[in-house]
Amino acid sequence: MTTLEVRPGPAVLAGIERGPSLAAHRAQYGDLPRPGLDELLALVESAAVRGRGGAAFPFATKLRTAARGRRRPVVVVNLAEGEPASSKDTALALTRPHLVIDGAVVTARALGAREVHVVLPGERPQVVAAVTRALAERDDRVRTSTHVTSGRFVAGQARAVVELVSGRDGLPVTAWVPEPVSGVGGRPTLLSNAETWAHVARWVLLGQRGYAGLGTASEPGTTLLTWSLDGTGGTQPTTVLEVPFGSRFRDVLPAAAADRPVLVGGYHGAWATWDTLASARVSVPQLRLLCVPLGAGVVLSADGCPVDASLRIVSWLADQSAGRCGPCTRGLPALAAELTAAADGTGDLDRVRELAGLVTGRGACAHPDGTARLVRSVLTAWPDELAEHARGGCTMSGAGTCQELAS
Ligand code: SF4
Repeated sequence: MTTLEVRPGPAVLAGIERGPSLAAHRAQYGDLPRPGLDELLALVESAAVRGRGGAAFPFATKLRTAARGRRRPVVVVNLAEGEPASSKDTALALTRPHLVIDGAVVTARALGAREVHVVLPGERPQVVAAVTRALAERDDRVRTSTHVTSGRFVAGQARAVVELVSGRDGLPVTAWVPEPVSGVGGRPTLLSNAETWAHVARWVLLGQRGYAGLGTASEPGTTLLTWSLDGTGGTQPTTVLEVPFGSRFRDVLPAAAADRPVLVGGYHGAWATWDTLASARVSVPQLRLLCVPLGAGVVLSADGCPVDASLRIVSWLADQSAGRCGPCTRGLPALAAELTAAADGTGDLDRVRELAGLVTGRGACAHPDGTARLVRSVLTAWPDELAEHARGGCTMSGAGTCQELAS
């Protein structure tokens, strides 16, 4: 893994220099209150807390749905970041584990849930160690258990996480109802990623004063971004930073990001030019309008050619299929091969578009859709560069031709 730098932030990353211990956490925040369900619902609704895994689904809606179920709900903390380029939940696990756990515990108490399941990424042993250490410091009188994923790319998908917690292989399956209706063991399951739980906890612990002056009226508060220069396969350090919603990207991203192609949203994301992103604001709806969804908050700058980076990522994604759905298992390798052929002048871009359409919406999880999104974005953002590649050239590599970079 590349080096991870976690910068202190204005909210959930405030105070990280004091260390991740429970004593430091309680000294900063005080004891965890015990709001009832109605109080918690009113708080997260007024704070407009939304999921930070990519879908930005309102947390209050999930909470209300889980509370309405006839059976006792289950709470799940998902630390298995589905997006491999994201390190925001890793950053929280290493610096603010008790804020994350507080969010799950306070919600479990309000819901009357007796179990909190914490799902840890098998490919990130430092996260497993940090969270295990933090849980050993606590006595919440809520049954807490940990589950470690296989480390596969799709292991962080919500349904894969439910499968793992239910004692089966941690792979995605088709689900006809959302997890808050029926998840672990058929029970209402409130599953959120670490960043979402950390925000829930901070709102409960500090209320509005924990976010005073941060964010906008429609998107209050902050969000975490993972940024890397050459995060598309290189060895440059990864930085996690916390920024208020509404900030301009040019004001929050490091100067080294300037003038490079940027991949927004990570491996399932979309390309943008620096000029497009620099003037945009950190805002889920605004970025959707620009067709570069923020997703899990990943911004990767390509240190070289974006076509070459895309070929590398799409081939890697094709290898990550869980082998359950035909359009994904067979379609993604075909899509990767056709894109590679198109870039070396032997393939057909119309066939690439056709394959991207054929795999979209056909899997049990969003893996094919995310991969097709990246492919379409390459075609849209870099048509001239693709054409140049097809002629055997490359204008965007800072270090030589794409052929030289790949060798
Ligand atoms: S779409 Fe792909 S990754 Fe998702 S469940 Fe099906 S085979 Fe697995």
